[in-house]
Amino acid sequence: MNFIIRLKMLKGLCKTICLVAILLLFASCRRQDENKNFSVSVNTPSKILFIYDTGDPYSSAVVENARLAFKYAKLSYDEFDLSNYPNVGIGNLQPYYAIVLATEFINKLSKEDCLRIKSFVSSGGGLAVIYRGYNENLSDLFGVRLKDKRNLFATAGNSGLVFKVDFLPMLGETVISDSIIRDLSMFNFIHFGEKQIIATSSAGAPVAWILRYSLGKVIYWNTSLLSDRLFRGFITQSIASVSDKFVQPIANFAVIFIDDFPTAVPNVKKKIVWEEFSMTMAEFHYFVFYPDMLKLADELNLKYTAGLVFNYGASIEPPFHLTEWRMGKAKVWGKEIEVSRALAKQFKVRNELGFHGYNHISLLNDEWKNIENMKNALRYAQKKWVEEGLGELPITYIPPTNLIDSIGVQAISQGFPSIKIIAGLYSGYFDVGQGREFGPEPWNDKFYCIPRVSAGFLIDDYTKVTILSEIAMLGVWTHFVHPDDIIYTPDEVENPELVRNWFYLPWRGKNREGLYFKFKEWLVNFKKNYPFLRFMTCKEAYSEIKKFDALGIEYEFREHEIIIKTNQKNVFLTVQLDPRYQGLEVTNAVIWHSAKTATTNLVILEAKDETIILKLK
Ligand SMILES: [Zn+2]
Repeated sequence: MNFIIRLKMLKGLCKTICLVAILLLFASCRRQDENKNFSVSVNTPSKILFIYDTGDPYSSAVVENARLAFKYAKLSYDEFDLSNYPNVGIGNLQPYYAIVLATEFINKLSKEDCLRIKSFVSSGGGLAVIYRGYNENLSDLFGVRLKDKRNLFATAGNSGLVFKVDFLPMLGETVISDSIIRDLSMFNFIHFGEKQIIATSSAGAPVAWILRYSLGKVIYWNTSLLSDRLFRGFITQSIASVSDKFVQPIANFAVIFIDDFPTAVPNVKKKIVWEEFSMTMAEFHYFVFYPDMLKLADELNLKYTAGLVFNYGASIEPPFHLTEWRMGKAKVWGKEIEVSRALAKQFKVRNELGFHGYNHISLLNDEWKNIENMKNALRYAQKKWVEEGLGELPITYIPPTNLIDSIGVQAISQGFPSIKIIAGLYSGYFDVGQGREFGPEPWNDKFYCIPRVSAGFLIDDYTKVTILSEIAMLGVWTHFVHPDDIIYTPDEVENPELVRNWFYLPWRGKNREGLYFKFKEWLVNFKKNYPFLRFMTCKEAYSEIKKFDALGIEYEFREHEIIIKTNQKNVFLTVQLDPRYQGLEVTNAVIWHSAKTATTNLVILEAKDETIILKLK
């Protein structure tokens, strides 16, 4: 299809959806009354068939990842384990709208079962291969055949990842380098037939592609990459992209954390800041960083959650003190002020003041020697929080260096009981409090985890992919920055993992080339693509995600209609449709946003009732 026709179709879609949205505004009042007699019901909830093999140890990570993707998207599914196949057969495929394959052992499938899968797809079903595997009877469904049956794997051109199209909004032309993805674990295939390439390796070998097979669609990931939780949203989107119709409730929020702010900021000169502003770090925090961040929030309608820390000092035993907290000074109208306290008091008026520690030593037993030391420091901090006039006691805790152990979690529970949320890392190592999911803290379910997926003022392509994946998974973006990110240049730190300003960027720069404007530019573009995402504090996000956890949803895909039932009102939904559907008439919901991905027409709705009807045109 040439570009002009595509563009016309795109315009046509927008027009249709806008029209229906306007129609809806008029229609919804009238239809509200009709709700009382709403007899529409979900008779047979639409579901997925998930096929894996517990005898395939290498695929166990992708299986677990897929289960979590299904859980977040509240997808209804049945599982089929191939380990007892063919003694236990796959059964009837008719109840499903899509099949997900997550094992290399699909070569076990009999010719008859392959034919049944092919007929399922050709009659309009979706097939998502989220972990590479091969069966010669499925070759034309995949659009590939093996180059050499004895040597399955590609030995060259199997690193890096280049997204060719907007598989997700904003994803096109994103490039992850070979040094980040060193081995995609690809099969060596010969390609045939027509297909749309979604991603290639940096050498140009197809990694993910989608093709139409009669009335149905197939997506194939020739990699083990979707085992990685950071790519989990790609599992969700893969299913959406092969389904004729797809419904996913989303929590719909974004939280930006400012870690180490307000903080014990010293009156020192740091080269990069001094060169730009002739200010000490304390002055930079007060006169530049904070006002700039406020301006950004005003312009883009953001809210922040800050992680306050009183000291960086190494004391783990009494006497505790606020010496460092009081250190940072700035002159305002000739009067000297305490920067940290002044910032904290101003910040809390419009944003959330979270807690990052009495000092910056992670609550690890190795560091603190025993739980009593931790608890004493936490109690001291809690007392000072009140004495310093920092307002309500915090409910969000951000672990210093994103590290905490089970003793540390217990110490917070006993030493700082107002804390309800632990905002650690989504990636990383479980044993040090990282690798957390949205949900109860596994070490103590009194706490809820709101893990952060990304960080920094400069969003590189890899970070971007992880952000878009998180949104595809749950409709959520969680991100953190630090006021001192700017000074962590390669010169300043020995460990390259700690570098946060690789390119020695200034804060603002002469031509808006600084970190601040880079972040702003990202946010503006991001908001253009995801205008529905609600920026809120972590505390607000906590009540949203708890509500989302309690959400129950069922839906039924009919020929030109989707019936959705939920147990809540004001639920946000992502609906994705095959591009052949050009319009949507919505009952009991408002349309927040519509867009075209490379494979679907996407609509974001807010339900206004517990029953929603979508008529497809
Ligand atoms: Zn910190």
